Amino acid sequence: MTDREFSTKCIHGYDQRYDRTGAISVPIYQSATYAHEGLGRSTGFDYSRLSNPTREHLQKTVANLEGGYDAIAFTTGMAAINAVLELFEPGDHIIASEDLYGGSLRYFRMIGSKRGLDVTFIDTADLDSVCKSITSHTKAIYIETPTNPMMQVTDLKAIGNLAKEHGLKVIVDNTFMTPYFQKPIEFGADFVIHSGTKYLGGHNDTLAGVAVVTSPEDYERLFIIAKTMGASLSPFDSWLIIRGIKTLPLRMDRQQASAIQIAKWLEEQSWVRKIYYVGLEKHPGHEVSKAQSSGFGGMISFEVDTTERVKQILEGVKIIQFAESLGGVETLITYPMTQTHADVPEDERNRKGINDRLLRLSVGLEATQDLLKDLEQASREV
Ligand code: PLP
Repeated sequence: MTDREFSTKCIHGYDQRYDRTGAISVPIYQSATYAHEGLGRSTGFDYSRLSNPTREHLQKTVANLEGGYDAIAFTTGMAAINAVLELFEPGDHIIASEDLYGGSLRYFRMIGSKRGLDVTFIDTADLDSVCKSITSHTKAIYIETPTNPMMQVTDLKAIGNLAKEHGLKVIVDNTFMTPYFQKPIEFGADFVIHSGTKYLGGHNDTLAGVAVVTSPEDYERLFIIAKTMGASLSPFDSWLIIRGIKTLPLRMDRQQASAIQIAKWLEEQSWVRKIYYVGLEKHPGHEVSKAQSSGFGGMISFEVDTTERVKQILEGVKIIQFAESLGGVETLITYPMTQTHADVPEDERNRKGINDRLLRLSVGLEATQDLLKDLEQASREV
């Protein structure tokens, strides 16, 4: 799919087979239930927990952009993750990237373990380690690439091939890159998950999750879980994500352009100790990323010299806001240690580099110069 085709699909989405009014904006079908035309006859919509026309439009649009068979939209990214992992049985073994969004780590540790899922966390960028971790019970490989927050990059093609060889499912959380920059299904992923709260929605105004599947069988299995779990995305929130997706390519390009400038500026600052941005040539995952993605995204993590500097920056920024989340038009700065990764045990956090001096920046759409000036004034020696 060329950039041009992708942009057109973002704007027009999926055919509105149910709309007869010619509405340019997908209608918000705010209806909990639907009348039947007769006994054994249905319009295709029965009850909105199962299906809703606005949500269907979103689902088909995201599935189409990712190159999947279909998708199911949930109230949050975490609900999408829970639903996909519900497909596995007690005793199943899953190999997961060791650096993941804190909520996903918490799922595996606190919920998955109670359900009898056995998980091995490893650096999925290291194919040898992945190979060695496969047992006769292994059923899936769960990946973020780049990871949140340490931006580790996994070779999707290599993992896809390995999984095929061993009959494993590949699940990729594509929240950071979005299908605009990266399409994991092209490399063999079976499921693609999104926190739609982030770039797909793009405006920090709603929560959503999407799970894209690649086969009718997986769709049927996931659909039963989704309708029973009951975390279906509301019509209005579906509409907000549909609206967000219309500008996804423009936002991703602009956010990335600013992120590159900011990452380069951070590299020059004496108080910056480490910088994790996939777009920098010296990033260890840069080449793999270039081979599998058409961009590097707008997320930067960086380590500063002291905890005093952390406090100074978080309390000193005026345009950038100190808040959790990412992917929206507003630039946010996050302190993973106390926010997104607060539940990760301290020694594990420190080992991964998520220490008391690590900050994460989600670059928004403000003027790049304003963001640079803001970082400059907030970090300046006092
Ligand atoms: N996946 C990633 C990579 C995330 O960063 C997040 C949230 O920050 C989630 C999943 C969970 O999404 P949500 O907050 O919409 O439940």
